[in-house]
Amino acid sequence: MLFTQNKPIEEVLESLGTEKNIFLLACNGCAEACGTGGEKGLSEMGAELEKAGKKITGTCLVDFLCNKVLVTTRLSREMDKIQQANSIVVLTCGIGVQAVSAVVDKVVHPADNTVSLGGLAGLWPSDERCQACGDCALDYTGGICPVTSCTKGLLNGPCGGAADGKCEIDSEKDCGWIKIYERLEKVGRLENLKKIRTPRDHSKMLPSEQLRKTSFYDIETKT
Ligand code: SF4
Ligand code: SF4
Repeated sequence: MLFTQNKPIEEVLESLGTEKNIFLLACNGCAEACGTGGEKGLSEMGAELEKAGKKITGTCLVDFLCNKVLVTTRLSREMDKIQQANSIVVLTCGIGVQAVSAVVDKVVHPADNTVSLGGLAGLWPSDERCQACGDCALDYTGGICPVTSCTKGLLNGPCGGAADGKCEIDSEKDCGWIKIYERLEKVGRLENLKKIRTPRDHSKMLPSEQLRKTSFYDIETKT
């Protein structure tokens, strides 16, 4: 299980900027268990966005947003509402947001941060990876994780060493930042590359004292 916490609403609204029409999507699996997704997450986030003047074009709950087959099948019924939206706000873990980005050509905004509980994170049926950095950057990078797709985990663009699209450290691996560039170009968000992210605060990866007192922490670390 990947543990998630809601991003501050101010951060979500800042990432939406002037986008008016929003499609809301939530995971009914791990995120529901964490209280950040599910029906509750959808209705709370919907109310916050409407309060901020946004229009919700549609909502959708998917059992496991980390499963791209499930996401594709479920979202195919919602395409008209997704097309009316400027972007999709997703309540789920980093894997789920990446899975949605991989199957829908739309700007995707994460509404949750994935936090490490220190134990076994579990398995999911896709290639995407999340290191539970606690400060999800997928909004800036077109839904491709810079922490896991770039061998150096760079947050502000490529190192410049890539050759023929491959990473300078591992020639078997595609350069993560080339993939991020191509994705941002596809969804019309190359201007994101001008935004500078501050250095990672690694303490955000750690479970808070409050979280360490919950049964989630016990289950993840003692099983
Ligand atoms: S930026 Fe990457 S590692 Fe951090 S929460 Fe998002 S998907 Fe996970
Ligand atoms: S070549 Fe690309 S993936 Fe490899 S370290 Fe540099 S930016 Fe990251």
